[in-house]
Amino acid sequence: MVKTWLFDFDDTLFPNQHDYSFAHMQLIEFVTERFGKGQDLRSARAQIEFIEHVIGSLGYRAPNAVNILRTLDRMGAGSDDLGEAMREAYRIMALGVGQRPTDDLLSVAHSIGVEIRAREASAITPYEILATQERIDVKNLERYGWHMERFPTSMREAFGEIAARCGVTPLPSDLDLAYGIGLTAFDETRYHERGLLPGVPETLGFLRERDELILVTKGDPRVQERKFRATGIRRWFGDHIFTLIHKDAAVLKRIAGYRDPGCVTHVGNSIRSDVDVACEAGFGAVYIPCETWAYERKHNGFTEGPRKVKLDRISEMIERYDSLP
Ligand SMILES: [Mg+2]
Repeated sequence: MVKTWLFDFDDTLFPNQHDYSFAHMQLIEFVTERFGKGQDLRSARAQIEFIEHVIGSLGYRAPNAVNILRTLDRMGAGSDDLGEAMREAYRIMALGVGQRPTDDLLSVAHSIGVEIRAREASAITPYEILATQERIDVKNLERYGWHMERFPTSMREAFGEIAARCGVTPLPSDLDLAYGIGLTAFDETRYHERGLLPGVPETLGFLRERDELILVTKGDPRVQERKFRATGIRRWFGDHIFTLIHKDAAVLKRIAGYRDPGCVTHVGNSIRSDVDVACEAGFGAVYIPCETWAYERKHNGFTEGPRKVKLDRISEMIERYDSLP
């Protein structure tokens, strides 16, 4: 019997979460440059370098910039040696994505922060900068939903809030710069250079020969269209592409229409946005974990069920095709 596969796009087929991490690193640099005058900025610079090391060596499933600093903050609390905190944080994060950290990578992590005090005397730490932006960004979901203005607006508002905390009235030109940093998350050239996740072309090619494919993505059509163009995703989905500002079980059921729910399976990286809504709609769910930002991490965990399966890599869909829900 022909099955219908509803695919999520971001961080399922296309690595996307670190586009926001790159913008976050720029925000740290910009804020500390503006408000860190007269302070030891080595710690902030080392933390940016640490984020680069983690993402560069652990790849797309590495935690995003906020979570990297959250882990580092936990390890570094009370410590006077940022290098030790970085080595431990690296170890935890590598294991968290199923990679055994080599001695070389651990020692690079250690060397980035060695002899730097974890608790510098600055008014605001890199983690606080990103945690502020993230808190505002989640709050702004109510106002902007998944529109592309949300993330840059949250960057601007975070800059304003941090300025106020430092007792400074922000210059309008600086607020605009913060907004501009947010816009760099939507760079079509970078989308093109990076392309799809490993295993995606083969898996989609395999499924397309047997079944029906539909792409269901949440986001701003202006941004998603750039990604579709840059990755050539229409090759497999044709016009069966739905870009939604809001995705829930009712919307998925409307998209599935006349199809038997027993023959429809949703594939995605998020428990909250993909697995939970698929189950509520009565569909099967394939979960390929890559939990990204704060919004997606609010869930009750994953339990396997008759129509729910968790895979490490998308290409396992080929190997385990006959037993997929
Ligand atoms: Mg996703």
